[in-house]
Amino acid sequence: MPWIDSHCHLDAAEFDADRDAVVRRARGAGVGMLVLPAVAVAGFEALAALAHRFGVVYALGIHPLHVDAADDADLERLADALQLHRNDPRLVAVGEIGLDHFVPGLDRERQERFYAAQLKLARSHDLPVILHVRRSADGLLKQLRRIEVPGGIAHAFNGSDAQALQFAARGFKLGFGGAMTFDRALQIRHLAATLPAEVPVLETDAPDIPPQWLYVKAGERSQRAPSRNEPAELPRIAQVLAALRGWTPAQTADRCSANVCEALPRLAALMANTA
Ligand SMILES: [Zn+2]
Repeated sequence: MPWIDSHCHLDAAEFDADRDAVVRRARGAGVGMLVLPAVAVAGFEALAALAHRFGVVYALGIHPLHVDAADDADLERLADALQLHRNDPRLVAVGEIGLDHFVPGLDRERQERFYAAQLKLARSHDLPVILHVRRSADGLLKQLRRIEVPGGIAHAFNGSDAQALQFAARGFKLGFGGAMTFDRALQIRHLAATLPAEVPVLETDAPDIPPQWLYVKAGERSQRAPSRNEPAELPRIAQVLAALRGWTPAQTADRCSANVCEALPRLAALMANTA
């Protein structure tokens, strides 16, 4: 199995200057598949086009940090886009959606409304969801109990053991990436080491969440540019998971890629057809 980066914002402006090279480096590192989540309606068509151009897959949704800037009609635009692309085998999920209770000053009620509406769209299209979880695991789970969707991935997971197991019980995989590479990330490392083998998936969240070896400390930022994460880092991030679990690199790739495919059945079908 190739490595799969289950969460990569390849459409981000940070990659405008060298996107082809970024994908080439990912492929060179053995990262054969990328999952590209959307963040805002304005980017949907460009994202779908990127997925086709690079032979990867995408999700459509409105990110919780973009909800305040979105207008109410954007939910209808998302519904239209899901309808328009419903037969596209590269459309694999609704995402990135969720709740962010970390960033101050966001309209919580509006986030809740957009999250619930997007869960309903996922349910009606029988699509899994890609979730943004930041200090919001209980709020996300509460709506998932009310609006049942066919599982998905809770990305950059950082919650308690009990919350992790509740997501897993609802058919969710949990995403581990750059944050896991820091020694001080004790709870994330504990989860990565101890969750059932069918739960973890790997991600970069590129260009965000740089791993420890790319991280530029606040005091050094005047001398060095802020670091950019990229999908080619995935196998090195995976080494941390492998060490925590006592898996070989090949076992880690096989297990985590199989987990992504289980969460995203359309990706599994696509990879089976192109194998
Ligand atoms: Zn993201």
